[in-house]
Order: sequence, then C-alpha cells, then structure tokens
Amino acid sequence: MDTYISTRHKLLTYLLYISLSCFFTAILNIIHTVYVLKIDFVAVSFVIPIFTGLLFGIMLAHIKVLSSKLSTMAYTDSLTHIYNRLHFSHFLDSEIDKIKRYGGKFSIIFFDLDHFKKVNDNFGHLVGDEVLEHVTEIVTRANRSADIFARYGGEEFIILTPETGLSGACIHAERLRSDIEKYEFNSAGHITSSFGVTEFNAEKDNVERLLERADKALYLAKEHGRNRVEKA
Ligand code: GH3
Ligand code: MG
Ligand code: MG
Repeated sequence: MDTYISTRHKLLTYLLYISLSCFFTAILNIIHTVYVLKIDFVAVSFVIPIFTGLLFGIMLAHIKVLSSKLSTMAYTDSLTHIYNRLHFSHFLDSEIDKIKRYGGKFSIIFFDLDHFKKVNDNFGHLVGDEVLEHVTEIVTRANRSADIFARYGGEEFIILTPETGLSGACIHAERLRSDIEKYEFNSAGHITSSFGVTEFNAEKDNVERLLERADKALYLAKEHGRNRVEKA
C-alpha cells in the first residue's frame, strides 16, 4: 500500500512535470513566434496546444486523485481505516463549539482492549492486528451513523455520540462490550474490553477536562476487574 510519503512524492513529481511542460511549451512558442513565417511551423503550432492540453488534463486528474488520497491518509488510521486521533479532535472541537453556541448534549465513550499485549505475545502481531480490524467492524456495525468513531492509540478507541446523554451512552457502551466479548476471533478466541463513559458539561468542560474524565472512567473499569463499563 502507498504510504503518505510516497503519495506526496508522486504528487510533487506531477507538479514538476507540469512545470517542465509549461516551460518547454513556452520555449517552443517563442521559437514559433520568432521563426513562424520562415519555417513551416503551422502543423506543429496546432499539435502542441492539443498535446499539452491533454497532458495537463491527465496530470490534473492524477493530482486530484492523489490529493484526495493524501487527505484520507492524513485523517484515517491505516490499519482500521477509521478516523485517527487528529481527525477525531477536529470533530470534538467543532461539537463542543456547537453545543456551547446552540445547546444540546453529547457523550464520549473511551475503550481499551483487555490484556491485549498477551494476544500479541501468544499469537503474534499479525493476529493482534486482525483483532483490531475485527473490533473496528463490530463497533462500526453497532454505532449509529452520526457517531464519530476513531482509533485513539494502539488498542484504544474513542466514540463521540452526538445528542446522547450519559445513560444512553452507557447503554451503547454496554452493548459494545457485550458484542466484543461474544465475538469469536479467528485465532485469538474471545477478548474483552473496558469502557469509560462521560457526558460533556457545557458549563464546566473543555476538551482536556472531558477527555481526562473519560480516561479516569476507563481506568476505573480496569481497576474494577476489566470487561466492564464505568462512568464519570
Ligand atoms: P490492559 O488490560 O491493562 O489494557 O493491558 P494491555 O496488555 O491491553 O495493555 P498494554 O498497554 O500493556 O499493552 C498494549 C499492547 O497493545 C502492547 C502493544 O504492543 C499492543 N499494540 C498497540 N498497537 C498495536 C497494533 O497496531 N497492532 C498490534 N498487533 N498490537 C498493538
Ligand atoms: Mg489494553
Ligand atoms: Mg491501552
């Protein structure tokens, strides 16, 4: 699969091609203008713009594809193809702005796979990667389309649930916990996960306080024996 760097490299190469072809077209046009009536250059002067136009068209199409690929790469996680932490933080900032301006509510569900290190140690890193992909599928299937789901870090995930208070978010987290617990992973068998849930408080919260609380709730879930949902 293409990496961010190689796609950026391709994009720059196309831009270089375009600059070079502009340069050579300009030179040819100058030659044409200077010698136009002396040499029979009419055919060439007709072909060059068509050829250059076509070339430009093709390259611009490639550039469009590559730049959309670049933004996808910048905002999604390469293993699970859900949003990455950076993109999640954009959604979170804008949701907070929206709530502070127009009112409303939302909650955060933060979860982490239990004893995931053991999965890697016992079955290998590739099986671990497969588990992460399957967990993503399980959660995506259960989420509502408005939910913003992201990979927060290694085996940690986060969901922003718009228009959802603490109790609704806890019910959703409990369903996710149960779905993950019941799922039979190819090689790794059964795996559990721990959840921290919190609701945004428009009067007191900022991003840091909100995430800190979700993290604290997750920590409590781990402390209380894992495979459970805690709220804060
Ligand atoms: P806990 O129940 O306390 O969360 O224990 P844990 O073992 O899940 O937590 P710990 O933080 O000790 O280990 C996390 C593991 O997740 C270690 C790291 O190698 C693994 N990990 C992180 N990212 C990836 C990944 O992209 N692929 C795979 N296969 N493993 C990953
Ligand atoms: Mg873990
Ligand atoms: Mg972790």
